[in-house]
Amino acid sequence: MRVLVVEDEQKVANALREGLEGERYDVVVEHTGEGAFFRINTEEFDAVLLDLTLPGRDGLEILEAMRERGLKTPVLVLTARDTLEDRVKGLDTGADDYLVKPFAFAELVARIRALVRRGRVAEAPRLTAGDLEMDLITRKVARGGRPVELTVREFELLEYLLRHQDQVVSRETLARDVWKETARTTPLDNVIDVHIARLRRKIDAEQGPKLIHTVRGVGFMLREGEP
Ligand code: CA
Repeated sequence: MRVLVVEDEQKVANALREGLEGERYDVVVEHTGEGAFFRINTEEFDAVLLDLTLPGRDGLEILEAMRERGLKTPVLVLTARDTLEDRVKGLDTGADDYLVKPFAFAELVARIRALVRRGRVAEAPRLTAGDLEMDLITRKVARGGRPVELTVREFELLEYLLRHQDQVVSRETLARDVWKETARTTPLDNVIDVHIARLRRKIDAEQGPKLIHTVRGVGFMLREGEP
């Protein structure tokens, strides 16, 4: 069982590591929000213990970014900010549970166990942007609850845009990562543009706000609201 502990206070982080290792958890510690976000995006964890007050990007920002990307790893928020407002905000943002410092270690372990148990029966992994939803297991896509039929290539293209939302994606990148074409004499630009146009008709034509944007001279960006 692998747990990521995100805590900037060395003493607290060490105590959590020792305690959890004593319970036979595999523990990885990150002290900053940026470090944590990178780990969460690149490695698998069964649960994340997330302190809210961190230098740089704080815990709620990390949580929001995780959920926007469709990362479903169970998150237990740890915080000294024991106000009701933060608690509600944390849960709104996608925390699975919440523990106010100081807490008893036994309580923490019980919460992690419950979280991991729930996490295992969690629904299929999904990617979302606004009211656009993509289920990666059933391969179903819906916008505003209305099913959208996509070809295999359109699905792959949309999946790529969703996984890189809020980032500019160039035609070159799409040719390499979606079409897997690296050594072509003629670029795939026209093919890509045709697919983007089709995706737009299916995703963006009937319901606003627009999600697929053209970034002139650079490429495309999937994003809620103008880039
Ligand atoms: Ca802290």
